[in-house]
Amino acid sequence: AVTLAGGGTLRARRLLVATGLRDVLPDVPGLAGHWGRGVVHCPYCHGWEVRDEPIGILAAGPASVHHALLFRQLTDDLVYFSRGTELDEGTRARLAARGVRVVDTPVTEVVTGEDGSIAGVRLSDGQVVPRRVLAVVTTLLARTEGLEELALPTRDLPGGMGRHVAGGTAGATEVPGVWVAGNATEPMAQVGASAAAGALAGAHMNADLAAADTEA
Ligand SMILES: Cc1cc2nc3c(=O)[nH]c(=O)nc-3n(C[C@H](O)[C@H](O)[C@H](O)COP(=O)(O)OP(=O)(O)OC[C@H]3O[C@@H](n4cnc5c(N)ncnc54)[C@H](O)[C@@H]3O)c2cc1C
Repeated sequence: AVTLAGGGTLRARRLLVATGLRDVLPDVPGLAGHWGRGVVHCPYCHGWEVRDEPIGILAAGPASVHHALLFRQLTDDLVYFSRGTELDEGTRARLAARGVRVVDTPVTEVVTGEDGSIAGVRLSDGQVVPRRVLAVVTTLLARTEGLEELALPTRDLPGGMGRHVAGGTAGATEVPGVWVAGNATEPMAQVGASAAAGALAGAHMNADLAAADTEA
């Protein structure tokens, strides 16, 4: 049974977990309020809107270098704020070859302009680097609040990228009667892939019910 926040209870013989994920943002003052508009994570989701803008990458680790190369496809004006992450000479050369400026001075805050959008990035020396858009690699955490009693198996994603619910064929989990689909198990899936996974899981769940009814 599933207990709802309003006190109601729903009963079902099979359960599909489609609770998505939470993007945990880098802890930079002034950043979170711009999430989904001036602060973006996905070049394929936001590419058209941010094209040709002055974009900054707020680095969080090696994945940010890959991120920078993707966002470089969208703008000629890209600044890479290394934020204490290591950049070897080869990586610096690759970024330089693509015309990406690297700023190693620590970032202290994201500055909001009078129009409410991002105006720039303030550095520890007081300088503000003008930017309109900031790209961040987020930590991807499957939403499992309220599902603790199921004890769904979760696994770390490679490279410290986050944690997801482990699913097998068509989203079947190790917990009998429970399937998972979408970002809760496939953090990189977009809307189309998430919806398709839900449809496939639904078909398998229904087949399971049909078999159970036949055996009963
Ligand atoms: C800023 C941003 C922009 C994006 N832009 C695009 C885009 O342009 N194109 C694209 O294809 N994809 C885009 N995506 C990705 C897309 O949003 C996801 O791939 C997709 O929504 C995943 O679908 P889902 O059903 O797995 O999860 P979600 O859409 O996250 O749905 C999960 C739902 O479950 C609910 N939920 C969670 N826990 C509980 C609970 N305990 N009880 C009840 N309800 C619960 C949540 O509130 C949520 O409504 C974007 C993502 C972000 C963050």
